[in-house]
Amino acid sequence: RRTTAPNNIAGEGLGLALRAGAKIVDIEFLQFYPNGHMAPRMVGLDPTTWEPTRVKLGGRLLNGRGEEFLNNYGENSGEKYDTARDTLTHAMYKEVKSGRGSPHGGVFLSFQHIEQTALKNALGPALEIFHRNNIDLTKRPVEVYPIAHYQMGGIEVNTDMETGVPGLYAAGEIAGGANGANRLSGNALPEAMVFGERAGEAATKFAAKRSKRRWNKTSAGPHVELIKGVLGKNVGEGYSPARLYGDLKELMWTKVGMFRNEKDLSEANTKIRAMRLNELQNLVVSSETIHNMSLVEWFELRSGLLAAEALTLAALKRRESRGAHQRDDFPDTLNNYQLSQKIMLENGKLVSSLMEVPT
Ligand SMILES: Cc1cc2nc3c(=O)[nH]c(=O)nc-3n(C[C@H](O)[C@H](O)[C@H](O)COP(=O)(O)OP(=O)(O)OC[C@H]3O[C@@H](n4cnc5c(N)ncnc54)[C@H](O)[C@@H]3O)c2cc1C
Repeated sequence: RRTTAPNNIAGEGLGLALRAGAKIVDIEFLQFYPNGHMAPRMVGLDPTTWEPTRVKLGGRLLNGRGEEFLNNYGENSGEKYDTARDTLTHAMYKEVKSGRGSPHGGVFLSFQHIEQTALKNALGPALEIFHRNNIDLTKRPVEVYPIAHYQMGGIEVNTDMETGVPGLYAAGEIAGGANGANRLSGNALPEAMVFGERAGEAATKFAAKRSKRRWNKTSAGPHVELIKGVLGKNVGEGYSPARLYGDLKELMWTKVGMFRNEKDLSEANTKIRAMRLNELQNLVVSSETIHNMSLVEWFELRSGLLAAEALTLAALKRRESRGAHQRDDFPDTLNNYQLSQKIMLENGKLVSSLMEVPT
C-alpha cells in the first residue's frame, strides 16, 4: 500500500527471472523506511524527505496524543535523535497498533521547537517546497509512517553477475546477496553502479562470442501464442488486472509487511497462489492491438504474483527475526538460521532451500 517505488512496479523482474530458471536469494528481507511521508499531501519531494531532516534538526516523533514514545521502545539516544531505522519502524508500528496513531494512521513528526532561522539554514530550497505545499513546520507537525523501500534479496548472481541462465545478467536492486539481511544507508546506488558495470562487461563478452541470431519461431512460438491467448480474454464484465494488482498490494501490506506471523503468512500464501493459478485466468483484458494497457498489466501482474508468492514463502520458512525480516511469533535471531535462503521454480511450484552464506 505504501512504497517509495513507482506505483506500477510489481516485482516483475523477479518473476521473469524465476520463470527463466534463475534462483532468487534472501527475498524475505525487505527494508521499510521509517519516516515515510503520510500527510498532508506533498508534491515535489519524495516521501523519504523527513529522515535526513529529522536527524539533521532533531525532529520530535509524537504519538496521536502528542506524547514522545520512542523511549517506551528501548530508545535512549537522547538529544541526538539518531535512532536506527529498524527501531523507529518497530516503535511506530507498535504505537499505531496500540491505538495511539495520528489522524491518518501514522505518527506526528514535529519541528515546532526549532526556530525559523535554524529551519531555513538547514533546509534551504526544500523549505520553499514545503511552503508551496502549505506545510509550515513552525506551526504544525507532519504525519509520517514506515514505507516499503528497498529489497535486499534478489536474483542469485556470481561475481560476473551471471544468473546461471545463459545470457541473463542481473545487477542493482534486482540482484540479491550483497546486503545480507539489511542495508546500510547509501549502499544501493554504489552497488547498482559497480555491479552494473561488471554485468555490462560480462554481457558484452558473452554476446561477442555468439553468432548473430535470427527470430527463432520454435522458441518464440509459445510466448507469442500466450500473448494471443490473453488478448481479448474474458472481454465484458469482470475484474481488471489493475484491480487484482490493488488487492495483491493490500494483501502484501497487511499480511506480509513490517511484522509477520505464521497465520497471516499462510493465509497470504494461499491467497496469492489462488490469484496466480486461478484468478489471473479470469481477468478482463481488452482486445486492442495498439497501446493495450490491460495486456501489459496482465503480464506485469503474472510476474508480480510469482514474486509476491516467493517473498511470502521465504518469510514463512524463516522462523526467526533477523534484520528487516521481523516475526512477531519468532522474535529472536537464531544461530541455526545464519543461512541464506534460495527460492526456485520447479514444475510450476516454488521451492525453498537454505544454504551457507557465500563468503
Ligand atoms: C525515494 C528513494 C530514495 C533513495 N535514496 C537512496 C540514497 O540516498 N542512497 C542510495 O544508495 N540508495 C537510495 N535509494 C535506492 C536506490 O535509488 C535504488 O536501489 C537504485 O536506484 C536501484 O537501481 P536499479 O538500476 O537497480 O533499479 P532502478 O533505478 O529502479 O531501474 C530499473 C529500471 O527498469 C525499468 N523497468 C521496470 N520494469 C520494467 C519492465 N517490465 N520492462 C522494462 N523496464 C522496466 C524502470 O522503469 C527503471 O528505469 C533510494 C530509492 C528511492 C526510491
